[in-house]
Amino acid sequence: MTLQQLVAPCGMNCALSQAYQGKGLACRGCGHGGERKACQNCSIRKYENKKTFCFECAKYPCNRLKALDKRYRTKYHMSMLENLAFIQENGLDEFIRQQNERYRCSRCGKLRTVHQDYCLYCAQMDKASR
Ligand SMILES: [Zn+2]
Repeated sequence: MTLQQLVAPCGMNCALSQAYQGKGLACRGCGHGGERKACQNCSIRKYENKKTFCFECAKYPCNRLKALDKRYRTKYHMSMLENLAFIQENGLDEFIRQQNERYRCSRCGKLRTVHQDYCLYCAQMDKASR
């Protein structure tokens, strides 16, 4: 599974997800180009038309995506709509680069999760790096 494949249709980078990073949870990313198994907890898992990204959909941005975006902006300081706009403008590879820079742990160098304010790998707190 590549980092590119870990970016979900909604713009969530599953590599930054607590469920993906550890804790034995089931998320393995939504993936691209093959079988797409949306996360169990995903509120937009019922999307029907098998787009690679939500912005390819005629209903974009749908209310479900807007609600998800609002929840993530409020709770996790991350925006699906912002991520999708970035991908649309700069491409997926550039998005991965930006994400790797933005979320790299200053202590251990691994990717931090958006779901916690500490690094899951080394417990370093550094909200300032966002
Ligand atoms: Zn760390």
